[in-house]
Amino acid sequence: MERRDLFKLAGVTAAAAVVPTVMTTEAKASEPKKTSGKSVVIIGGGWGGLTMAKELKKQDKTIDVTIIEKKDIFMSCPISSLYLGGLESVTLSRLTHDFYEPAVTHGYNFHKGEVTAIDRKAKKVTTTTGDLSYDILVLSPGIAYDYEKQFPTWDAAKISAVAQACPAALMPGSEHLALKRQIENMDDGNVVIVPPASGKFRCPPAPYERTAMIANYLKTEGIKGKVIVLDTRPGKFAKAAAFLESWDDVFSDYIDYRGSSTVTDVDPVKKTITYKDEDGDSETISYEVCSLMPINKCSPITSMAGIKVNGAGFAAMDGYSFRSASDKNVYVIGDAVGHKIPPSGQTAIWGAKRAAGQIVAQVNGKEKDPKAGLPEKAANVCYSMVNGAPEEAIMVTHTFSADASGVLKGKGHVPKPKDGNGKFRSKGVGKALHEWFDGSMREMFS
Ligand SMILES: Cc1cc2nc3c(=O)[nH]c(=O)nc-3n(C[C@H](O)[C@H](O)[C@H](O)COP(=O)(O)OP(=O)(O)OC[C@H]3O[C@@H](n4cnc5c(N)ncnc54)[C@H](O)[C@@H]3O)c2cc1C
Repeated sequence: MERRDLFKLAGVTAAAAVVPTVMTTEAKASEPKKTSGKSVVIIGGGWGGLTMAKELKKQDKTIDVTIIEKKDIFMSCPISSLYLGGLESVTLSRLTHDFYEPAVTHGYNFHKGEVTAIDRKAKKVTTTTGDLSYDILVLSPGIAYDYEKQFPTWDAAKISAVAQACPAALMPGSEHLALKRQIENMDDGNVVIVPPASGKFRCPPAPYERTAMIANYLKTEGIKGKVIVLDTRPGKFAKAAAFLESWDDVFSDYIDYRGSSTVTDVDPVKKTITYKDEDGDSETISYEVCSLMPINKCSPITSMAGIKVNGAGFAAMDGYSFRSASDKNVYVIGDAVGHKIPPSGQTAIWGAKRAAGQIVAQVNGKEKDPKAGLPEKAANVCYSMVNGAPEEAIMVTHTFSADASGVLKGKGHVPKPKDGNGKFRSKGVGKALHEWFDGSMREMFS
């Protein structure tokens, strides 16, 4: 038996052993409990929702806070590419958390169920496990995939077949586990990565970090094959100069970036993908593993709420308040907001904290001016791992500003670190990536 076969077996066992068991609380309530006047219901227990729940209780213990979440466990998208790439520093247990511990620690309620309807007039949310009433509603439901827009000729069966065969893994859970299994089980051959073709999408550097980390896996395991990136962008993407430099230095035999490529079809049975190349010619290539990330749109929750949204469903907010432009009792945070800042976990945390202050004031009968303190500037850093041995990462710093009218804009800068010896990547930035992740987990769970 080859080393890789042994690893496949070990990998399956290890993954199965660390998946936490989660109990569900699925008692059906016929009539929702009356609100306290200070009842906040949060839809989505991801980066934005978990931060919001903790922050509200931190600022005012008398607020009755409930998170509604459809999933059994929390799993992080940030650093999931390191897990896919086989880096020992990132195990499945480091990516996952239960929802109950932070709820008990901070004193909020966790309601497991899927939201199916929102009645803003009655201030009621319907879920598969009962109805809940609210005084303030917070939406942090994240994104959805728009296969229909990207591939208008595909029917539901084809979309489902491609989604399962070529996991997008932009939403945490089964998709990541499926992709990990496929990578660990692959023989020699190519891995095809397709970044979202157009529009705003979750964590713009993510497809390119995934490219580096899967190349790291092929290199470490001695797999003969390449990571082929079929990107509609002509080489201009998030942190492009830094990614291209490190791909060239570290994985030149493993990464084949094909810009200006538009995927037109996938055959999950034959394992082939067809695309138009930069000259407009149609090419068909085979893959062993494929991760096709479709165009993103907002989760249907914003449309379900009937609030003001843009064409892709992202919510319009009132100035810089994260309050919906069409309902003063609804706030929207995280990737579901339609501002001009790249959607990220970091900005979901930041938006949740800002909105929490507004909500605490509102439920205590004080109106906070959403334009108070403007113009305002803020900044954050987003890291991407680009090498596995040694662990080296690149970063982009973002400066955000909200002008006097509350319009939010962001500007990115990709610096070369002092310990990078003239390169964009360094071990110090790799260490900072882990510290950032641990700090973010503390924001939500400790
Ligand atoms: C591969 C990858 C790498 C990334 N790396 C980084 C990084 O390095 N740094 C960074 O800052 N960001 C990163 N991100 C982005 C980050 O994960 C997201 O921006 C962040 O999760 C957004 O938070 P959110 O609360 O808006 O959505 P989410 O975290 O997705 O949470 C939404 C929650 O709502 C729940 N939900 C949706 N609909 C319903 C419903 N009907 N009923 C009940 N519950 C529902 C979902 O199950 C989910 O748990 C990365 C993303 C990916 C995909």
